[in-house]
Amino acid sequence: MDFTLSTEQKMIQDLCKNMVKKEIAPIAEEMDKTGEFPYALWKKIAGLGITGIPFPEQYGGGELDWLSMNIAIEEISRGDAGLGASLLDSVALAANLIFTFGTEEQKEEFLVPLASGEKIGAFGLTEAQAGSDANAIQTKAVLHGDEWVINGTKQFITNAGLKHNGLVVIAAVTGEKDGTRKKISNFIVPTGAPGYSFGQTYHKMGWRASQTRELIFDDCRVPKENILGDPERGYNQFHMALQTSRIGFAAHSVGLAQAIFDASLAYAKEREQFGRAIGKFQAIQFKLADMLTEIELARLMTYKAAWQKDQGENFFATSTYAKLFASETAKRCADRGVQIHGGYGLTDEYPISRYWREAKFEEILDGTSEIQRLNIVKRVLKL
Ligand SMILES: Cc1cc2nc3c(=O)[nH]c(=O)nc-3n(C[C@H](O)[C@H](O)[C@H](O)COP(=O)(O)OP(=O)(O)OC[C@H]3O[C@@H](n4cnc5c(N)ncnc54)[C@H](O)[C@@H]3O)c2cc1C
Repeated sequence: MDFTLSTEQKMIQDLCKNMVKKEIAPIAEEMDKTGEFPYALWKKIAGLGITGIPFPEQYGGGELDWLSMNIAIEEISRGDAGLGASLLDSVALAANLIFTFGTEEQKEEFLVPLASGEKIGAFGLTEAQAGSDANAIQTKAVLHGDEWVINGTKQFITNAGLKHNGLVVIAAVTGEKDGTRKKISNFIVPTGAPGYSFGQTYHKMGWRASQTRELIFDDCRVPKENILGDPERGYNQFHMALQTSRIGFAAHSVGLAQAIFDASLAYAKEREQFGRAIGKFQAIQFKLADMLTEIELARLMTYKAAWQKDQGENFFATSTYAKLFASETAKRCADRGVQIHGGYGLTDEYPISRYWREAKFEEILDGTSEIQRLNIVKRVLKL
C-alpha cells in the first residue's frame, strides 16, 4: 500500500496551500463579515486550473483525478469554508452531473465554462418539504412542445444567484413510475431562463462567502434538450453526484479541522498562565493530540474514498464513513479549540469562534449525520 501523493497531487496541494496562506486566509474574516463572494480570488483559483481538475482536457479540464480535486477542496476550505463550499458544489455536483450524464452538446455548452471557472455551477435538490427526504420533492416539469415548463421552489441552494453563476442543475418530478412512484428527472436551468428567479438570500451563521438562495420556477421554460441523461433515472443520477460530493464534504471538514488545530496550537504556545504557556499543561496537550489523531484518521478515510472512486471501485461505504467521521471530527475539534482559547474563544478576537460556527455546517449539509448513519445501517449493514 503506497500512501505517497503523486507529483501532480503534491503540486496541487502546494499551489492551494500557498494561495490560502497569501490570499485566502488573510481575507477570510472580512468575507465572514461582509458575506461577499470573492470573485477576484475565484478567478485566480480558476486560473490555476482547480475548477476543472477531474474533467478531460477536451472540456477544458485538467484530466487529473478526484483525489487531486479533494486535496484542493481540503486546502481551500482550510483557508475559508465558504469559498471551499462554493468550489465543492460547482465541481462535484453541477459540473460532475453534466460530465457524467450530459450529451456532447450539453458538455460543450455547459461543462466547459464550469471547468474553466468562467461560470459557477449550482445544484438544486432541497425544497421546503424535501430535505433529508429528497424523494419528497414537488417541483414539477411538464413537456410542452419543444420546451419543459418547470414550476416549484427550491431552498438553501449554494452559489445560485452569484454574478458568475451560469446554471443550476435541478431535480423535478416528471411523472409516475408504475402508477405509484414519482418519476424524477434532472434539468439544466441556465441563469436568465424565462420564469426563473431568486427568492430570499439566507443569512447564515457561517460559510458566508458561499451565498445560499431560494430559487423560484414560475412557468420557467427551458429547451427540451436541457433534460439530463435518462429521464427515468434522475433519482439515481443525483444520488451518484451526492456520493461524490460526500467525499468533498469530508475533505472540506478535514480542511476546516486542520485550520482549527493550527489556530489552537498557535494559541496554546502564545497564551501564558501560571507563569508558562498553556501548551505546557497536559490537559491542553491531550486535546491537541486527540485533534491531530482524529484529523489524520479523517484525512485517510477521505483520501481512500477518493482513491476508490478513481479506481472505479464502489465507494458508497467509504464516502459515507468519511463524511460522517470527518464532519464530527471538525465539530469536536472546534469545541476543543474554543476550550483552549478560553474567554477569547467566545469573542471574534481570534478566528476560532468563526471556525466553531462553521464546523456545525459539516454535520448538516449534504446529508446530516443521522442520514449518514442510516445509510450505513440500511445500505452497508442491510438491517
Ligand atoms: C448553507 C446551506 C447550503 C446548502 N446548499 C444546498 C445546495 O446547494 N443544494 C441543495 O439541494 N441543498 C442544499 N442545502 C440543503 C441541505 O442539504 C439540507 O439542509 C440537509 O440535507 C438537511 O435537510 P433539512 O435542512 O431539510 O433538514 P431535515 O431533513 O428537516 O432534518 C431535520 C433533522 O431531522 C433529522 N432527520 C430527518 N429525517 C430523519 C430520519 N429518517 N431519521 C433520523 N433523523 C432524521 C435530521 O438528521 C435533522 O437532524 C444547503 C443547506 C444549507 C444550510
